[in-house]
Amino acid sequence: MNVSDSERVATTLSARGYEITDLQDDADVVLINTCSVRERAEHKLYTEVGRIRKNRPNKPVVGVMGCVAQLEGETLFDKIEGVDFVLGTRAVGRVADALENVFEGRNQFADLGERDIDYDWSVAEGQRHSPYVAFVPIIEGCNKFCTYCIVPFSRGREVSLTPSEVIRQVLELRRQGVKEIHLIGQNVNSYRPTDESGLEGFAGKTAFSRLLRAVAATGIERIKFNTSFPRDFHLDIVDAIEENENLCNWVHLPVQSGSDRVLKAMKRLHTVDRYKKIIDRIRSSNREITLTTDIIVGFPGETREDFQQTVELFEYCRYDSAYIFKYSPRFGTPAYKMEDDVSHAEKTARFLELEKVQKRLQSESLSRYNGRTLSVLAEKVSAKSADDLSGHSTCHRVVNFKGDISLLGKAVDVRITDIKVNSLYGEVV
Ligand code: SAH
Ligand code: SF4
Repeated sequence: MNVSDSERVATTLSARGYEITDLQDDADVVLINTCSVRERAEHKLYTEVGRIRKNRPNKPVVGVMGCVAQLEGETLFDKIEGVDFVLGTRAVGRVADALENVFEGRNQFADLGERDIDYDWSVAEGQRHSPYVAFVPIIEGCNKFCTYCIVPFSRGREVSLTPSEVIRQVLELRRQGVKEIHLIGQNVNSYRPTDESGLEGFAGKTAFSRLLRAVAATGIERIKFNTSFPRDFHLDIVDAIEENENLCNWVHLPVQSGSDRVLKAMKRLHTVDRYKKIIDRIRSSNREITLTTDIIVGFPGETREDFQQTVELFEYCRYDSAYIFKYSPRFGTPAYKMEDDVSHAEKTARFLELEKVQKRLQSESLSRYNGRTLSVLAEKVSAKSADDLSGHSTCHRVVNFKGDISLLGKAVDVRITDIKVNSLYGEVV
């Protein structure tokens, strides 16, 4: 979501005549888009502004946007020397106004206001992270309030984009040569537009599964969606994937813990059993759907026994990858008031243990690809070797393969010859 916001800010600024550069040392304005989901992410902001101050004596204008900006607001001016403006998560559309205010001498300007009704969510060609892959936000914010999570505070309540706007964007991206779109949101399964026009004639048990079918009907080559929330994940989503080849065979379904007791304390509002039922349905699909997840270890009150249940759930689900996080108390969340009683050393021990289990399961599971042919979208020249291209499979695995730049932007059949820890290697068939 942050990458997507940055792309929209770049679109707005370039439309106003600014030139976008990745070369920070040349920039007259540096915009830092921040994450506050864990303490470490937040600390990066402090280090980065310090670095800019030290290395750039001619003082570029520094703007802070994203979740830290939203949560801290004007207090950032006191906390960090050298910040000129602060832009909240819903004010991204007004970035040019914020900059103009600073240039006019009203330095230290903050905008934490709501999104404009007529805010344009689209991203211009040339401002996306890839010419072939694009993010399309369909829902912003979160109403779930999982007890550990800062997102409902930093991104506010859920707002869904209308289906007609989503479809308009997908068609436009397709026209521009985009091959893969990611429908994104903190919880895409709770997609609930105020106006369903654009979905007429599309079946589905939820607005999200109707949207999936409608987006599939645009004919865009590949559609992925992220992130799913177990309680709102309707099994009809799997039906939609089975009915439409261009809905990719990948589901990211964060579970956070394998213990009912901990899930309850996290207020995830589902049980391990209910989660397993979803996994069973996904596993039984003829589309061979890949599963990935997020996990928190060391949540307040998590015992060794609870942790062991997470390990058992991993054995059951056999994820193709998992993001494992150590619990990080976030000020303002309900869990912040709970005693952070799992020691730092124990959190690290559980993290390493789970990581080891995941690596073993992952390498067993990925070995199934050896010798098989996967469809890979050739996205860029590999960072490791100029002779190789790099891209993702439909199941969202990174695949590197020997190939020249004429293949860029194409879905290429690649036979897998080598299984690496975090990627696959192969040759064009
Ligand atoms: N909406 C998504 C997750 C968004 S945050 C969901 O509900 O699954 C991304 C991930 O960060 C979460 O899945 C969680 O694993 C992790 N996370 C969030 N808050 C955290 C915290 N306080 N400490 C550690 N990890 C956290
Ligand atoms: Fe955070 Fe829970 Fe919302 Fe995900 S669903 S963003 S973890 S509150």
